[in-house]
Formats: sequence, structure tokens, C-alpha cells
Amino acid sequence: MKINSNYDKIQNSYLFVEIANRVKKYTAAHPDADIIKLGIGDVTRPLAPCVVEAGLKAVAEMGRVETFRGYSPDSQGYEFLRDAISRYYSLFGVKVAPHEIHVSDGAKSDCGNIVDLFDSDNTVLIPDPVYPVYLDSNVMSGRKIIFCDATEENDFAPLPDKKVKCDIIYLCAPNNPTGSVFTYDKLKAWVDYANSLGAVIIFDAAYEAFVTQPDVPRSIFAVEGARTCAIELCSYSKTAGFTGTRCGYTVVPDELLGGKLAKMWARRQSTKFNGTSYIQQRMAEAAYSDEGIRQCRENIAAYQKNAKLISDALTEMGVYHTGGVNSPYIWLKCGTDSWDFFDRLLEGANVVGTPGSGFGKNGEGYFRLTAFNTYEKTKEAIERIKKVL
Ligand code: PLP
Repeated sequence: MKINSNYDKIQNSYLFVEIANRVKKYTAAHPDADIIKLGIGDVTRPLAPCVVEAGLKAVAEMGRVETFRGYSPDSQGYEFLRDAISRYYSLFGVKVAPHEIHVSDGAKSDCGNIVDLFDSDNTVLIPDPVYPVYLDSNVMSGRKIIFCDATEENDFAPLPDKKVKCDIIYLCAPNNPTGSVFTYDKLKAWVDYANSLGAVIIFDAAYEAFVTQPDVPRSIFAVEGARTCAIELCSYSKTAGFTGTRCGYTVVPDELLGGKLAKMWARRQSTKFNGTSYIQQRMAEAAYSDEGIRQCRENIAAYQKNAKLISDALTEMGVYHTGGVNSPYIWLKCGTDSWDFFDRLLEGANVVGTPGSGFGKNGEGYFRLTAFNTYEKTKEAIERIKKVL
């Protein structure tokens, strides 16, 4: 037996483990410390009431012989949900047909699994810093990786370098961890670049619901030319609070390699995936009802309020930062090594954030704060941070 030796090339995912260890050590020495966590990328507000109601109704259906459901008819997702997603896209002027939508158990699985469609000989372009799954899943399958620098100079939203050749491009906007976005023109530059190379863009739109700027597309398919070069991944985790219940989807447009990639993805999913639960899909559908959209937006607005609180305070303190406007993440320049800053905040303010260096080399010297705690805790954390900065 030979193992996949590419796993030896993956960096230890020590970021959140190391954070937990440092916090544990600190609280062991200071048991009375009131730690505020602004490091988590997980939601804290409960599911919208109409989503819960739809879930309960679906559970009840499963308990009656007339309405019980086993495996879904196909792994792509129930039509009722794909129709609802398609209608949602039309709300912001984007045409995506239900048959182009593939429902899944979340964007992370799709990020990792989509690489099955591509030869290991492809060169992959990944922005740095970014959500680490893109890098790790391609290292696991042995692909050549090149990085694209996201820095303060380009507002952490780099443009393509036309001299660089690649086959697969990852873009994440609004970005985790920097909160940066691509305006229509910037995203169009990527689409044109990908089309000129015959490359594919894997566009991660997990935070689309946080976009507030009118010139920032919430879907790559709002950009002319994207249907011949892009796959879009999306998640309900931060939009509807499904981090614990799990649902997401991927859009593979008909025009991509004349429909071949859509067929391959459907084939891959039907071979290796048996679909998202009926109950979960009914909950996702409920999030698209008028009331569902309103209730989910209320939760998002609460996170946005926290993000603004953090961002305004940093502006007042004269600290360079991005994010917060179209994103639940605030990316600040700490002026020191990211881990030193982590210790300073933990020890001086009892506030936990995430060192930027955990998201790539360009993250060194930066720090991520998240808006997912309560308003009161966020406010308190800011007051404490002000005292140590
Ligand atoms: N994509 C990005 C950019 C994320 O930040 C996350 C979660 O933090 C995910 C995908 C994962 O989404 P899901 O919970 O749907 O798997």
C-alpha cells in the first residue's frame, strides 16, 4: 500500500489549535479572566424562526408514511430548492437556471471536491492571504500552485498579471480573511484573463449576503463573460446561520466547456455524494421566502453593526484596516508580528483574534477580527483594545 505522499506536503493546520492552546494556557494562569472571542469564523445568532418552523414541519413529514422521504431523487438537490436559489439570483439581476445549481452540504466540501474535475497537471493560482482550503485541497492532489499577492498596495484585491499563465484560479469575495471585494471592473479583469487563457475561476461567494456596495457584484455571473469561465460556490453558513446544520450549493453554467463540466460535476456528485437531507433543503428553501429573507437579513444586520463598530473604532485609533463594510471580517495592520499581537491582545485586553499569518505569507503583520460575537461583547472588546493599542 502506498499512501498519497502529497499529504506530507500540507502544512500542519496549527492555527486554530495554537490559538486554543494559547488561550487555554492563559486562562489556566488567569482563571478569572473574562475572555472575549473575536477570532471565530462561526455564527452565534440562532436560526431564523421561519427556518426552524420549516425544519420542524419537514421532520414531521418524515414521521408519517404518506410523506416520508428516503434518498432524494438525485444528488443535485430537490427542485423546490434549486428553483428558490434561481429566483434569489434574479433578485440581483443574475440569470442562473435551476438545472445549473447543485445543492451540497456546504461550500467547504465543494471547495475540496471540485478539484476532482481537473487534471493534476494543472497550475493553480491562489491569492495570498486567503481561506486555506483552496491551497490544502490542491496540495493534496499534487498540483503546482502559484500565488497572487493580495497586499495593502492593491487593497487586498489583486488584479491578474497577464504574464502569468495558469489553469485554475481561486477567487474569494468578499474575502476571508481580509474582507476585501472586487468591484465589477476588477472582477471583469479576472473574467477576461481566465477566458483568454481557457482557465476556470472557482469563485467562492460564501459572504455575498454581506455586500453593501452597489458596484460590487454578489455573484461572478453578474459579470459579462463569466459563464464561459466560472464556477460559483455558495454557502448558507454565514447567510442563514447554517454552520451547524450544513447546506450550500455550486453553480456550474451550461457554457463551461459546452456543458461538459456540469455533466462531470453531476457525475462526480452522484457517485460520491448521496445528497443533502430533505429537512435541511426545506430549511434552506424557507430562508428564501419573503419572511425568511427578512429574518436572515436581521441576523446579518446585527453582524454588520458589530463590524461597523470595530471598523469605526479602528479608524478613530488611526489603525489601517480593510473589511467590515462588505464582510463580517476586519483585517487590521498590527505593526508587529501577528502572533506577538495575538499575545498582546490576549494578555492586555483578554480579547482573542486570529493572527493573519495563518492565512498566508502576506498575512504576516496583520490580524483578523470577526463580527460574530454579540454587540455588547464586541463593544466591550473594542473599549479594551483601545486601552492596549
Ligand atoms: N468559503 C469561505 C471563504 C469560508 O470562509 C467558509 C467558512 O468559513 C466556507 C467557504 C465554508 O462554508 P460552509 O460552512 O458552507 O462549508
